[in-house]
Amino acid sequence: MTDWHKISLEKLAKQEEIPDGYIRVSGPLEHDNIVNGDGLRAVLWTQGCPNHCHGCQNPETWDYEAGMLVPIDEIIERLSQFKGQAGLTFCGGEPFVQAKACREIAERVRKELGWNVWSFSGFTYEIIKEFGGEPWEFLKSLDALIDGPFILSQKDLGLKYRGSKNQRLLHLERPTGKIISIE
Ligand code: SF4
Repeated sequence: MTDWHKISLEKLAKQEEIPDGYIRVSGPLEHDNIVNGDGLRAVLWTQGCPNHCHGCQNPETWDYEAGMLVPIDEIIERLSQFKGQAGLTFCGGEPFVQAKACREIAERVRKELGWNVWSFSGFTYEIIKEFGGEPWEFLKSLDALIDGPFILSQKDLGLKYRGSKNQRLLHLERPTGKIISIE
């Protein structure tokens, strides 16, 4: 296990306590977004990130106390008003530190709105799998994961949906979480 891998597991273990039925978001829900996944998408920006990648474009999303706590029922209600969306993408911040709330939203969006669900994470697939628990359950609820930290020295503006070459777009099988293909 590399040092970075060990540190990542420790960070993932320090998950923020969020009251049941709530999620901490950094801003309003978006819709008709075409840069965070396939098709027109709604985007949920989570608040709180332990990764602190050098060159991060959203450092205001790092603080666990900032943003707003919003009831999950309210999130679903607002999403249901967005028409013509292919799916929902979780961006951050780091969605996997609020894995329980994100999984609940992912499952409701799929069931109630018929959308697919993608997420970004600064953690890799392997780290999330090794951690298990709620983060792994959230991953298993996804159709696709864009994984890994943003690494400034590997920045590449030509990549689809990603900022640096180390990041992968993983298409996942539900409900096993197996990787179907890697872009
Ligand atoms: S994981 Fe994302 S939000 Fe967190 S520091 Fe890295 S680039 Fe920024």
